[in-house]
Order: sequence, then C-alpha cells, then structure tokens
Amino acid sequence: MTARRKCGAERGGREGPPLWAALVAVACSKPWSPSEYSEAALVANVGRGFALGAATAAHQIEGGNDNDWSAWEAGAFSSGRAHVKGGDRSGLACDSWNLWERDVGVLRELGLRHYRMSIEWSRLVPVRGGWDEAAAARYRQMFALMRQSGIAPAVTLHHFTLPRWFAERGGWEHPEAVADFADYVARAADQFGDQVDRWITINEPNVYAVLGYMDGKWPPGVQDARRGARVLATLLRAHAEAYATLKARDTRDADGDGVSSEVGIAHHARVFQPGSINPLDHLVAHASDEFFNQAVPEAIATGRIRISVPGTIDIDETYPGLTGAWDFFGLNSYTRDHMRVDLGTPSLSQTYVPDGKPTTDLGWEIYPEGLLELLRRYARYQRPIVILENGIADRSDLQRADYIRLHLLAITRAAREGIPVTGYYHWSLMDNFEWAEGYSGRFGLYAVDFDDPARRRTARDSASVIRSLAGALAGRAASATDE
Ligand code: BGC
Repeated sequence: MTARRKCGAERGGREGPPLWAALVAVACSKPWSPSEYSEAALVANVGRGFALGAATAAHQIEGGNDNDWSAWEAGAFSSGRAHVKGGDRSGLACDSWNLWERDVGVLRELGLRHYRMSIEWSRLVPVRGGWDEAAAARYRQMFALMRQSGIAPAVTLHHFTLPRWFAERGGWEHPEAVADFADYVARAADQFGDQVDRWITINEPNVYAVLGYMDGKWPPGVQDARRGARVLATLLRAHAEAYATLKARDTRDADGDGVSSEVGIAHHARVFQPGSINPLDHLVAHASDEFFNQAVPEAIATGRIRISVPGTIDIDETYPGLTGAWDFFGLNSYTRDHMRVDLGTPSLSQTYVPDGKPTTDLGWEIYPEGLLELLRRYARYQRPIVILENGIADRSDLQRADYIRLHLLAITRAAREGIPVTGYYHWSLMDNFEWAEGYSGRFGLYAVDFDDPARRRTARDSASVIRSLAGALAGRAASATDE
C-alpha cells in the first residue's frame, strides 16, 4: 500500500494552505511507506502515559437493543431500498451483552490496557425518568472485570442511538432534550464514577447531524440542512451540560492516578481536498471544512457556537458553559474526501476518490497523511489529543496491518514535532454492525463469525501489530517502574 505525502512546510490552519502551496505540495509529494514505521520510534516519542486501546460502541456489538436504530433498521426509503445495506438488522450483533467476559479476554490477548466502549442510553433509561438497575449492574460487572484485568474503560455516553421515548418526543429537537440527556449523564456518573475516569460525552455530533438530518441516511431520516445545523448546536449545548455534570459528580478516582474524571467529545474530522485548481472546488472544500471540521472544536474552545451552511443558515450564539469544556481533544479520523463543485446537488458539491488511490472495502481512501495534518491543525487547542477511532474495513485483512502502521507513523511524526498525542484506540476491537453498511464493513482486529450462534471471535493476523506495540509499551512502563 502506498499513499502520498505532503512535503511542504505548511501547518494545516483554519484557512487551509494557499493554492500555490497546495500545488507545490502535490508536485513534490512522495509515497509514505509502512516500512518507515518503527515501533521503537513510536515508543520513544510518545509520552509515558500513552494509552493504546481498541474501541467499540454498544449498539454495534451488544445485540438485543431496542432503540431508534433498531426501529430504523426495519424500514426502507421511499425508493423501496432498505435503510440498511442488504436489509441487515443489528439483531444479536456480537452478542456482547452476554459475551462481555470473552471481550475482556480479547483485550487481554491483545495486551491492551485501554478500552473505549459505550453504555446504551436506551437500556439504562428505557422510559423517561426511569433507570434499569439490572442493566446498570451488568455494566458494573464489565467495568469491574476490566479493572481487575488492568484495563481502563473510556466510556461514551451517546454513540448515535437514542431511547425510543426520546426519539418519539422529537429527539434532539425537543426543548427538554438537553435536560433529559443531562439527567441520564448524572445517573451514569453516580453509578459508574468509581469505576470510570475517562468519559466521552457524545460521539461525532457532526456525523450525527449530517447523516440524520441533512443527508437523511440515518434516523430520523430528515433532509433539511437548517434542522441539521440546529441539532448540531443542540448537541454542543448537551455536551456542555454533560461536561459540567460529570465534573461535578464524578469525583471518585478509579485507578488512583489522581484524576477522577477526564471528559471530552469524540470529534470526527476528515481532510477535504479540492478536486482541482477550480476556485469553486476550493470554495466547497473550504465550506465543508468549516462546517465539519472546525465548527465543533471552535465552539468548545471559545464558547461561541458558529455554524454556517452557506445560503441556508448562520447560527451564531454564545453558550458560556461550553468554553473550554474538554480535558482532551478526542479525534476520530479515517479518510479524506476529494471535493468538486456540482450545482446539480443540494449541497452543491460531490465527494469522490480519484482513480488509483488506495481504498478500503467501503471505498474510503487510505490517507494516513491526513491524520498528521489533522493533528497539526488541532494542536492549536493545546489539549492532549486522544485518537478515539481510526481503522479500516478490510474483510480479507490484506491491508489492515499496513493501514495501522501508516497511522502509527503519523502519530510518531506528530509526537516528534511536539504535538501531545496521548492515546490511540483502534476501531474496532472486533467486527460489528456498521450502521447503514450493515455487516458489510469488517473493521475488527478480531473477526466475528455472524453465522455462528456462539459468535466466535478470531484474531486476524493484523492484530499482531497492535499486540506487539502493546507489549513494547508495557515493557517500557515496567522498566520505568524498575528505575
Ligand atoms: C463511528 C463508528 C463507526 C466507524 C466506522 C465512526 O464514524 O463512530 O461507530 O463504526 O466510524 O464507520
């Protein structure tokens, strides 16, 4: 696998590089090779507390959930096409609700000390104002086993799915949505705060707003940019309230490292590459960048929510509780989008992958340089950056090992530049229900046999890259203790 590297000296700023710099960069680019990755160099350059882990989300692995997504999975678009590719339903998924001990076993086999997972709001709060003690007890058991196994959970509170009652009241558009979410967060903090120190309030608010309210490919299937922008603003307010709630209520330090709660958001970012020197291509790439990559972090850094969909809506409001409401910058990064203007579409643009670029099973470009570009850009917020998701749909496992190496190379280079990257959670620990792609996208370090009622998990060869790095990091930690 090869990819192209920028050799210009630009630091990806808010405006992006000027046109001439982009052209020079493309002209002098040379391929990045996985052989440039060195485990020893990574270990030497990242800080001692570097968190290496794997990630999952409740609805994608647990099975048996009853929420807005399980309802959506049963339906179809007006064209007759099923909401989920191939008519797949999450169903039993990986059956992690029952096989959680095996999942912790998988983490142990990999030597991982960190696991990002989510708790399922619809399980814990099946009716408004309620709380399911049995579900909470199950999560407590999971966290307890992780702690006994030396694994620190990083827990996401909202990873795309909603309880049905919440969705039926109007979801994030209901006036009490933020308060309802804060109530759930408060219960979770009280219930799990002694076991969990790292919290992620909301997963990818930008993806949620775009796919649920603009493209309409996810529930609630709305195609209205105004509503999407407003929902994004609401999610930012919800994040601020969740942040304050967790900081106030989780004052119990689970692992004795002096930190009782570290709270962040998982921000999905992608590089938007203008398809040509046509200024209109630059314009659409820039507008996407502002909306998708910048609006969320700028709002949290400044407390000012500015969301603009050109020609449609401009939101500009301050929300003081948002200012600085993050202890780390959680980054989800997978790919790059090439963009060109297309006046025939509602967004006036089109994304594509040029011929000859390496791609994943889902057709996403493999572009590890993008991770370095994003790390450089987001370093300006002066927060530790934790990569909460990065991974590849690769059923055959022919590309995954190199994909991982190339992204670890990006981290090594960033760390060498002094950028504080403090963690990497690989997406995903195991194959799972990949939202609108159903079971067609296989992201797992472990393969899951979905035809097998026992949902057997089997390590893929590429998992050895992670296992080996986990061993090297543990070796360094042990030698530091001996010193
Ligand atoms: C989401 C995951 C998803 C992954 C791969 C991320 O945007 O947080 O839930 O499985 O991408 O598509």
